[in-house]
Amino acid sequence: MPPAEKDESMTKPSDNSTQKPDFKVETRLTTGGRDPFAHHGYVNTPVYHASTLLYRTAEDYLAHRGHYQYGRRGTPTSEALETALREIEGNACAGVALLPSGLAAISTAMLAVLRSGDNVLVTDSVYGPTRRFCDSVLVRFGITTTYYDPLIGGEIAKLMQKNTRAVFLESPGSLSFEIQDVPAVAAVAHTRGALVLMDNTWASPLYFRALEKGVDLSIQSGTKYIGGHSDVMLGTVSANEAAWPQLKDMVFSSGLCVGPDDLYLGLRGLRTMGVRLARHQQSGLAVARWLQARPEVLRVEHPALPSHPGHAIWKRDFTGACGLFSIVFKPVPQEAVFAFLNALHLFGMGASWGGYESLAIPFDCTAVRTATKWAPGGPTVRFHIGLEDVGDLIADLEKGFAAYAAAL
Ligand SMILES: *Cc1c(COP(=O)(O)O)cnc(C)c1O
Repeated sequence: MPPAEKDESMTKPSDNSTQKPDFKVETRLTTGGRDPFAHHGYVNTPVYHASTLLYRTAEDYLAHRGHYQYGRRGTPTSEALETALREIEGNACAGVALLPSGLAAISTAMLAVLRSGDNVLVTDSVYGPTRRFCDSVLVRFGITTTYYDPLIGGEIAKLMQKNTRAVFLESPGSLSFEIQDVPAVAAVAHTRGALVLMDNTWASPLYFRALEKGVDLSIQSGTKYIGGHSDVMLGTVSANEAAWPQLKDMVFSSGLCVGPDDLYLGLRGLRTMGVRLARHQQSGLAVARWLQARPEVLRVEHPALPSHPGHAIWKRDFTGACGLFSIVFKPVPQEAVFAFLNALHLFGMGASWGGYESLAIPFDCTAVRTATKWAPGGPTVRFHIGLEDVGDLIADLEKGFAAYAAAL
């Protein structure tokens, strides 16, 4: 009979991260979770394909003597990624859980803190599949979801019920880019004894220090900028002291874990995330400004533009922007927008962003909103600006606008 698995950390911190100098995040991206001389001097932690772990003696086996216990519970590869992410999040982070996708990270974080009879407050601007999880799964376990206006701020106090155990935020909102007042919402939630969960995929801990702004569980779809090359599914949840025990227990008990090659791709992506994000930001802003000056465009929803309604809060709380934003066209028939999109060559038409390539997709939030009315005033397109040359991207967009004009 196998020994009962020890119910402690999934993997224990192995390196002396707490003794490292106080490096900036860009440095931590390259140093975090690495211990070359534990691996013959090789720079990168090897990919451990592992399930069974052998013990030398019956005594060792029954006492679980050793750093690792079982493939699902962690390997040097998973531990390297957890350690790196913990160092990037900083001192407020008590632990990081790795999940097989961003959505799995969201559902796992929610299940870690919610129980039957609870209520959860979720922003109306939330990523669509998160809403689906609340409406189709949480409801079956007797957990009610109340959607709220992303611009609610401290007024969220009015929605807090006796049984509200958690508040879920996403800023900027998926597709629509409303900026939330995270510290104000978190302060109210904590006064009422609720935990704060946030989908921090857009900014990542590089540009929004979620755990330092009052968030207890900060979630990232690692599929996006951590992976960065459109070739891996990955999710991460970073927890503070208050939330880590519940998260750890949920991940341990549910048996969720990430395959070794995907862990490696996450680690590999992380090393260059700083320079990639800086370039996504720079090019994204350049294209956003260019689009803003176009006569066909009614509005550009990019929080780093001073014209954005959430710009002041973005400037107060964020230290950067990624390459994802949307635009609202002046009212025109849908065919013109489709002609624009179909004429683009450098912009792929695909949903999952964060890779090196540029993307453009049409979208419409009207049907998914329940707490707020979404009325942008014209057709909407979301862009992801990749690592291509900005001049080439703009030349491509000009071809799109020519096709648009021809379709009118
Ligand atoms: C893509 C995305 C997710 C889901 O991540 P997957 O890894 O695709 O499951 C969650 N939240 C946001 C904001 C996303 O963009």
